[in-house]
Amino acid sequence: AETVLITQQSHEELRKILDANKTAAPGQQRLVVISVSPQSSASLAARFQLTPTDTAKKLTAFFKKLGVHYVFDTAFSRNFSLLESQREFVRRFREQANSKQALPVLTSVCPGWICYAEKTHGNAIIPYISTARSPQQVMGSLVKDFFAQQQHVTPDKIYHVTVMPCYDKKLEASRPDFFSQEHQTRDVDCVITTGEVFKLLEEEGVSLSELEPAPLDSVYSSVSAQEPTSHRGGGSGGYLEHVFRHAAQELFGIHVDEVTYRPLRNKDFQEVTLESEGRVLLHFAAAYGFRNIQNLVQKLKRGRCPYHYVEVMACPAGCLNGGGQLKAPEMPGKELLQHVERLYSMVKTEAPESVPGVRELYGQWLHGEGSERAGGLLHTSYHAVEKASSGLSIRW
Ligand code: SF4
Repeated sequence: AETVLITQQSHEELRKILDANKTAAPGQQRLVVISVSPQSSASLAARFQLTPTDTAKKLTAFFKKLGVHYVFDTAFSRNFSLLESQREFVRRFREQANSKQALPVLTSVCPGWICYAEKTHGNAIIPYISTARSPQQVMGSLVKDFFAQQQHVTPDKIYHVTVMPCYDKKLEASRPDFFSQEHQTRDVDCVITTGEVFKLLEEEGVSLSELEPAPLDSVYSSVSAQEPTSHRGGGSGGYLEHVFRHAAQELFGIHVDEVTYRPLRNKDFQEVTLESEGRVLLHFAAAYGFRNIQNLVQKLKRGRCPYHYVEVMACPAGCLNGGGQLKAPEMPGKELLQHVERLYSMVKTEAPESVPGVRELYGQWLHGEGSERAGGLLHTSYHAVEKASSGLSIRW
């Protein structure tokens, strides 16, 4: 099953679609949309010694030369994922007196972790996992629902590709939860890794540095993007920090400017607390890498997990260090990672609630915050997987 999945979701597959478009009869072409993750951009920026802004613009130029119609940035869809995560946490924190499984909330954006939880721990862990969709899958909703309507096409006429730091995002995109029975199409048709983009560049004999930059595209066309933007709080998207700040304000009226991490057993297991008059009000943690995740799960199963919220990521050091990122033979892994982290942190950060277009889309597209439509398009569910029937493999 996985072999089929990987061949269906490869840069060769993207090439086939682009070639088919060249010879297709008028009106039979598919609209090709690529959504690039900021982690992949940072990895390419490091390889080609570019700034993040130049990388985004040159990558747009490269894809358009190949025949791609629109190039978006998944930092935009991450705004919705972060806002939904904030809202969900506050709701579940308020419910904790009435529901044993309301807390802790465990993040849902890492498919490596989700596969492991579903396959190995099933219903003992699933109720704790946030239902907010990952930035990749929110982008799927934006492109196949909102953008399709804007372009006056049905969702199956769009071929949507994402560029990700990670192979497990291919598994995420192929989940039945993200397939539209009505239109017989996936929200994300194909996921390619940063490494596969590099292969495409090599196959075309193109060096990213030498390309003329092209203007950036924006899913919400009333807002023109001049430069890429990102979020505070680390290379995996800053879920812990955004939810922490929002919850401190919303639940306790406390404004938090700087979030201070305290490393526990290692740098991939850190915690953050909000205290007032000697009382711990919020207790959050970040658990990255398999060993830390196993430890967290064991604590939770024994009823000894002290946290209200945990940002869980399968890769040590998080998504900037994902298995699909570029390696640099001449540079030790640690040094390369630090370089990629520096480039990632150069991008201007914005608070998701004040990003132009987000409020408008909540109104126009989702019919309001907390609406049924927002629930359907921005959230998902998880399923315990029978070990014998699973064809999934998990890379740790
Ligand atoms: Fe993928 Fe690793 Fe990020 Fe998880 S932590 S989403 S496996 S890159």
